[in-house]
Amino acid sequence: MRAPPAKIFRSWLEFSTAIPASPVKQPVGCVEGGMRKELMTALALAVAASSASMAENEIPVQVYLQTGDWPDPPLRVEKIVNSVFARIGVKLLWRIGPMPDTPGAGTMVGIRFVEKAPITASAQALASASPFSSRPEILVYQDRLRHHFNAMPGWSNVIPGYVLAHELCHVLQGTNLHSESGLMRASWAWPEYAAMLNNRLFFSDEDRNLILASLTVRPRR
Ligand SMILES: [Zn+2]
Repeated sequence: MRAPPAKIFRSWLEFSTAIPASPVKQPVGCVEGGMRKELMTALALAVAASSASMAENEIPVQVYLQTGDWPDPPLRVEKIVNSVFARIGVKLLWRIGPMPDTPGAGTMVGIRFVEKAPITASAQALASASPFSSRPEILVYQDRLRHHFNAMPGWSNVIPGYVLAHELCHVLQGTNLHSESGLMRASWAWPEYAAMLNNRLFFSDEDRNLILASLTVRPRR
């Protein structure tokens, strides 16, 4: 078994992604087509049992969402983010509007879709997060998303959800760590985009452990 990719420490907190030069030629996950039925049934039962036990111990996180004039309804973005976090036992509780001034019970994160990226943002960044703040906030740059969609038409259904999942991971871990591959890669490439299309872009075990450890031990805010 291969060791998980090492984390890369970066001093900046933005997510950026390079626009791939060639289209996806083959969907990932097709190697499972030959799996025996009995094995698939056993796997399905194991996954169901795992999901049931997670549901009993889900960790709630309140997410305050302000999408501005972004045309997609919030629920379209939430569906992908919810599914990614549900796999690691984190339940996102979505609220529309700004974070309250006074801290409530549980972990809170704010997300704002802003019209333009600040001039301090790196050229490829689609969003940024402030994982070290006592009131962590994620900013999504609408101008950068639109530019990205112009280069990758048809991807507006999936990319914003994974951008939010990536930034929420930074905030919930309280780190600016990136991985060499996968959802927490600093700049996605075709392996990550292909995984998105197949609903197979998840957190690594290391990412999951860091999120759960942070949510379990740090003071609520
Ligand atoms: Zn990042």
